[in-house]
Order: sequence, then C-alpha cells, then structure tokens
Amino acid sequence: MDNEHFTIISVDVDRDYPIAVAGRMEAKSAVTEDTPAEPAVKATVKGMRILLDLFEKFDIKATLFIEASILPAIKRLDQTIIKRMKKHDLGNHGYAHEDFTGKGTGIVPTKDKISQTLDKAVEIMKQYIGRPTGFRAPYLNFDNNLANIISQKFSYDSSITIKNARTLQIENMQGLTIPEVPLTTGRDKNNKPISTYLWQLLEGNREVEEYLDLLKGQSANPQIPFTVFAIHPWHIAYHIGSRKINDERKISEIKKRLEHFFSRLDNISPISEAIKIQRQYNSKSGKIL
Ligand SMILES: [Zn+2]
Repeated sequence: MDNEHFTIISVDVDRDYPIAVAGRMEAKSAVTEDTPAEPAVKATVKGMRILLDLFEKFDIKATLFIEASILPAIKRLDQTIIKRMKKHDLGNHGYAHEDFTGKGTGIVPTKDKISQTLDKAVEIMKQYIGRPTGFRAPYLNFDNNLANIISQKFSYDSSITIKNARTLQIENMQGLTIPEVPLTTGRDKNNKPISTYLWQLLEGNREVEEYLDLLKGQSANPQIPFTVFAIHPWHIAYHIGSRKINDERKISEIKKRLEHFFSRLDNISPISEAIKIQRQYNSKSGKIL
C-alpha cells in the first residue's frame, strides 16, 4: 500500500488571544483582563464549544495543544468541555503560554526554568485532562535549546513552519530527536503566501476553497505525508482586525465557514495516530524515522 496523505486538525487551546509582554515569560490576554488567579478564557470557551460540536458532527479526532494554566478556568466555566476534549489527541502548549525563547519578551529563560515550567504544565494536564504526548511552542517561538528540552518530555513536536513541508523530517533543528510534524505554507493563485493556520479564514480574509487548494497541492506530492491545519478557539469569538468580540450573527457565520471546510476534508487523523501509521509505512519501505 502506498503512503496515504493525512489531514490534521490541530487546535491551540490557549487563553483569549495571548500576547507576549516585555519583561515577563507569561502571556497576557489581548481580549479581556486576566485576573491574578485566572487567565481570561471566555472567548476560548465559546469557540471551543463550537469546535467540539463540529468535531463530533463530522467524527473528527483532532490534536489539542493546551495551555495548562487555563484548564481550571475552563473547568469552572464549563465542566463538560473538558470531558469532550479528552476524546482528542492531547499536546502541551506551555503552562502560561510562555515565550521559551525570549524572542517576544526579551527574557531568555534558563534550561532549568523551561524544564520546571513544562513539568508543571504536564502535572496540571495530568490532573485535569490527561498526559500530553506532543508539544507546540507558544507563538511558535522555537530554538535548539527548547528542541533539546522538549525531546526529553514529549513524543512529537509541531512548532515549526516549513515551506512545502516533508513532514517527519527534522530540518535545521539541532537537538530535536522526536518527530517534527510541521505547519506549512504554500502559494495561492495570485502567488501570495498562504499558511495552514486558519487565521485569515477566521478574520474573513480568505475562503475555504483557498485552503482546500493548498491541501490538494500538498496531498498530490507523495513526499508529503501530512498537512497540519491549526486554529485557535478564541478566534471564532474575537476579531483581531477590528479588535471586537464577535456578535452571535458573526459567530454563526464563522461556524458555517468551518463546517463547510471540515465537510470537505478526507482522511483526518490526530497527529499521534498519523505518526504511528507513517512509521509502519516507513519500516516496510526500509526508511527509518
Ligand atoms: Zn498559542
């Protein structure tokens, strides 16, 4: 049997639009005020309910990269969400959406600090939802140092964006010893870059068909086994361009757009499952992952 192409739906389950703040490792919500006790998650919870409805409708198993510190806040607002999230592939996305590289905050954490923060994140996830197997770096800020640390703690990474990504290949990243399942970018009909982050779809700047074209191009290449799409739940409830919380009409429009997108996808698989199947192909063809 030939290699098949997997479509992966990944979700960065983080606080309401996390942004980096100079001088501290932890993120801040750009939508509403975090309180000292809890990160802001109202938009995230709203969007997550919609995503879970759609995943259940289309029988999609997604991969969720979770900012661990938001789990208590989510649980307080809606217990059932956590139960529904448990059915998906679980990855970690920091404890408090830390910038582990210092790129956005100016603070470069030590190896020990990163390691302790990730251990704390894994503990909270184990307590609230389950042990994460994968990792995606907050802001996708990734470097050799972080690659090294996460290789000891997780079984795959999905933090790197590679043009026409041949997934599972670890490119230009010393220290990474686990499979990389990267995000990708391509070119649209007008030769403009388009990313598998569904950012522009949710902002209303791109159509579903453009993402399907990107997927078609990827899956036509037998060298490319996966296409990893990514989405933020809060982005269903918050429009970045106008800095406004979406009203119900806007939210239902976005839901329809996502519904249309999901209805057109084939062979959707969570990352851990896709890696397992890909490994079987590779071992049959003598390739080593
Ligand atoms: Zn994030």
